[in-house]
Amino acid sequence: MTTPTAPAIKETKAQKTERLKLAKNPWEAFDEIRQFARDGRDSVPEDWALYFRWWGVYSQGDGLGLAGGKNGEGKATEFFMLRIGLPNGLLTSHQLRVIGGITKKYARNLADITTRQNIQLHWLTIGDLVDVVDTLTEIGLSPKGACGDVVRNVTGCPLAGINHDELIDASPLAVQVARALTANTAFYNLPRKFKISISGCPLWCNYPEINDVALTAIKHTVDGKEEVGYTLRVGGGLSTEPHIAARIPAFIRQDQAFAAVMAAAEIFRDADVLRENRMKARSKYLFMRFGWTPESYLEVLEAKLGYKLIPSPAEDENIADDIYRDHIGITPQRQPGLSSVGASVLRGRVSGDQLQKLADLAEKYGNGQLRATIMQNIIIVNVPNEMTAALVIELNTLGFQVDVSAFWRGAIACTGTEFCKLAITETKGFAKWLVSEMEDRLPGFDQQIKLHVTGCTNSCGQHWIADIGLEGKKIKQDGKLVDAFHFCVGGAVGKYARTSRPLGYRAAAEDVPDAIERLLRAYLAERQPEED
Ligand code: SF4
Repeated sequence: MTTPTAPAIKETKAQKTERLKLAKNPWEAFDEIRQFARDGRDSVPEDWALYFRWWGVYSQGDGLGLAGGKNGEGKATEFFMLRIGLPNGLLTSHQLRVIGGITKKYARNLADITTRQNIQLHWLTIGDLVDVVDTLTEIGLSPKGACGDVVRNVTGCPLAGINHDELIDASPLAVQVARALTANTAFYNLPRKFKISISGCPLWCNYPEINDVALTAIKHTVDGKEEVGYTLRVGGGLSTEPHIAARIPAFIRQDQAFAAVMAAAEIFRDADVLRENRMKARSKYLFMRFGWTPESYLEVLEAKLGYKLIPSPAEDENIADDIYRDHIGITPQRQPGLSSVGASVLRGRVSGDQLQKLADLAEKYGNGQLRATIMQNIIIVNVPNEMTAALVIELNTLGFQVDVSAFWRGAIACTGTEFCKLAITETKGFAKWLVSEMEDRLPGFDQQIKLHVTGCTNSCGQHWIADIGLEGKKIKQDGKLVDAFHFCVGGAVGKYARTSRPLGYRAAAEDVPDAIERLLRAYLAERQPEED
């Protein structure tokens, strides 16, 4: 008689991911990628799809918009996409020229500036990956940590060090945190991705509200003396269940800031309750599912730090309204005689030629420094005031826009079916067409409008904080599945931060401009004087 065996229990996705992460630290295994490059794409074991992400690499779709499906079940091709991390968005002309060269040589002359101040390339083969990573290392850049269950690119104010409104230049801290967390093996295995933003400016153009951890400069009176330090927010995130970050009622002194961010990363790393379900593994779920509050988080943070922080009530903050935060146009710097010039890059898409030309312009008109922004734009800084007009002409000629319509300026688009395997709809081409339609239909529209297009529920295009957020769906038309978008409206960041409201209305992609035109014409007809 045979003994009955227990039925095999299938490993969950979370269990499998946790097992694979414990088995290998991909940051210590780049030599294996070198070997794959020598042996070819077919030599890559299946499990390495996970490990590649630690090097900023995903397999990609086909570039034709056919990769996605009704439920985002698109198939991978032999090619990869790779994100280059730019802590605080800082770039030199030399680095940008090299990235432009890589883009032309390996990535079919096409790159995207992302909503985390990264630059993303596509069409890389397994052999190219090694060359690209080695070349990036030579110029002090890396894709390490741009994807995977790690600290993603640390974002910050793109005008750090030059902005009049700034209380402190926080970019050195952002870079220090980025280096510390990607170099330290102790942080290679977090429950999920972890997004950090640090800004020394009270205008919040780095969107602290939607980061897992955000430090924002604030003034506070300590022992009768005014001191500049930081306020801390935690647990922000978008994706399928958006959550505006919770303000922790503490004042973080400058010499405590690095330790506080490291402690916050440790708290997240050690929250094992988050490792059971990958769909509920972001830090926001500590607040949304597990009952954490700002006060209880503060207690845990102080225990980690080993000292008490100075209390800081919400009234300490003077939060900026939902102003333009993109730094497009000419902005006088705090350095006398110098300005920054921000160019709007429609949905972040650029060619390698444009990147190289931008590098040339940064040297010709400035001192070779540039900044990438979370609104997918580029800023050239340290331009003598008398040279800004000529630079604007050159930027416009290059295909960017400095004097720009509200629609172009407010448009954001995620990767979409062109390259993203999770996507349901195409986004980049759609966003370009939508902007041109809206410019024709409502020329001179006089209000800032964040028009964000995202190709699936994951919200990489941040539709939850848009005035009009469009989330990709499919609908049936004449018996055929076509791209469509679900409308969410009224999202905001800043003083009135809140996530957008799904209207329960969806339209086929080709009908979206009609719907937006109706909405905005109603707004124009019915708004009160001075209403924005
Ligand atoms: Fe891909 Fe866009 Fe969905 Fe993010 S939101 S997973 S980039 S389609």
